Amino acid sequence: MKVYKLLIFLLFITSWIVPSTTVTGQSENPEYPVYIVQPGDTINLIAIKFDISAADIIAANNITDPNLLSVNTQLVIPGIKGVSGVLTYKAVSIGENPDSLARIYQIPKDVIYRLNQTTSPSEFYIGSNVILVESPENSYQRSSLSSGDSLFERSIQENASFWETTMLNQVENPWAILPNETFLFPTVNNNKEENNIEFIGLPLTQGKSAVINVNTTAQDLTGRVGNLELQFFPNNSKQSSIFGIHAMLPAGLYPFHLEFKNNLDQNVVIDQLILIQQGFYPQDPPLQVDPSTLDESLTKPEDELIFQVTSPFTTEKLWSGVFSYPVDDPVCIKSWFGNRRSYNDQPYNRFHTGVDFGVCANLNIYAPADGKVVFTDSLLTRGNATLIDHGLGVYSGFWHQETILVEVGQFVKAGELIGIIGTTGRSTGPHLHWELVVNGVQVDPLPWLETVFP
Ligand SMILES: [Zn+2]
Repeated sequence: MKVYKLLIFLLFITSWIVPSTTVTGQSENPEYPVYIVQPGDTINLIAIKFDISAADIIAANNITDPNLLSVNTQLVIPGIKGVSGVLTYKAVSIGENPDSLARIYQIPKDVIYRLNQTTSPSEFYIGSNVILVESPENSYQRSSLSSGDSLFERSIQENASFWETTMLNQVENPWAILPNETFLFPTVNNNKEENNIEFIGLPLTQGKSAVINVNTTAQDLTGRVGNLELQFFPNNSKQSSIFGIHAMLPAGLYPFHLEFKNNLDQNVVIDQLILIQQGFYPQDPPLQVDPSTLDESLTKPEDELIFQVTSPFTTEKLWSGVFSYPVDDPVCIKSWFGNRRSYNDQPYNRFHTGVDFGVCANLNIYAPADGKVVFTDSLLTRGNATLIDHGLGVYSGFWHQETILVEVGQFVKAGELIGIIGTTGRSTGPHLHWELVVNGVQVDPLPWLETVFP
């Protein structure tokens, strides 16, 4: 029996070696896999990716000058013996685990574990990078099962043969399949929903924004990333949520939970770990400020007031496209979002909640996107402050102004003059502090100048 299984295994291995592209360096080391050099790769980076030494790569490939590594060069990767084919690198997405990856990439599960030097399925969390062998060109349909859905029923829905499906997916017991697993179906069918759920902004990063799109029109959609409740809104035929990762949230793995009814009226529940990676924020030089601006009995009520003003979720999206700079050219940034801060010799336990623009053109402050003015007042730490609601839980704050030129209730357009730069409140010189709040979390505004959210 064992011999039989080994034979099947060998047959299987050879079946995906043969169709792979011709590889120059492979002939000398046929038992090793091949990696195709990507833009930005260096020998050292590749060595780190595959956890082997740079010297071994250099030796195995007869490389004379490691600094001259051109894109698309095929390198033999020694050390992963017994695996052949073209290695690829991918981030794990929702619903994927070693079982589903084995099916989709048509690689035995033990090979996936060996390639990634792990034996633990928990290391395959959302956003983790895994090494795989490139999947053969095929016309299989990719689809995931919902709770209560059987592989048999889904095969019928996909117009595929049930037995072919179980063989293709190496399913030993088709009646004992976990929900949300992805399968290949041996049909050619392009008008099916492919991905039910999609993340934009993976891996999630401290202080950055992300979007999750769920392909359902159902209203009873709930989700959580760590302790953060996701706020969903209709977005064409989908439901979406824009959310921010707190800049001080320790990097690591957090539970991700999602629950909804899909368009076939089936309950879908997803519980998976998700990676939140470090944002690499440097420490600003220690700052000396008026001690009263650090007095919690004075600052707390102000923080709570801002939190209250930025808490309501306006269901209408008031802006469109990307945001624009709130100051004129030339733009000069004095302090970036997320920088760790120490005030009056206290430890570095605070962070910079926005972006500081110095005065390098003129003193004008502009609305970075359309929205409604929801707050204007003179505050102790923020000085003369304005808050604009852009809708969908997204707010812009403008602190330390000399003059506020808008009124509460007023609608403003992107590029409209809203104030004059000053140095009011906890400030050491004339500058504009621009803060962006998403779903109650302060995030780096600068990616919003390049990326269209949601
Ligand atoms: Zn600032």
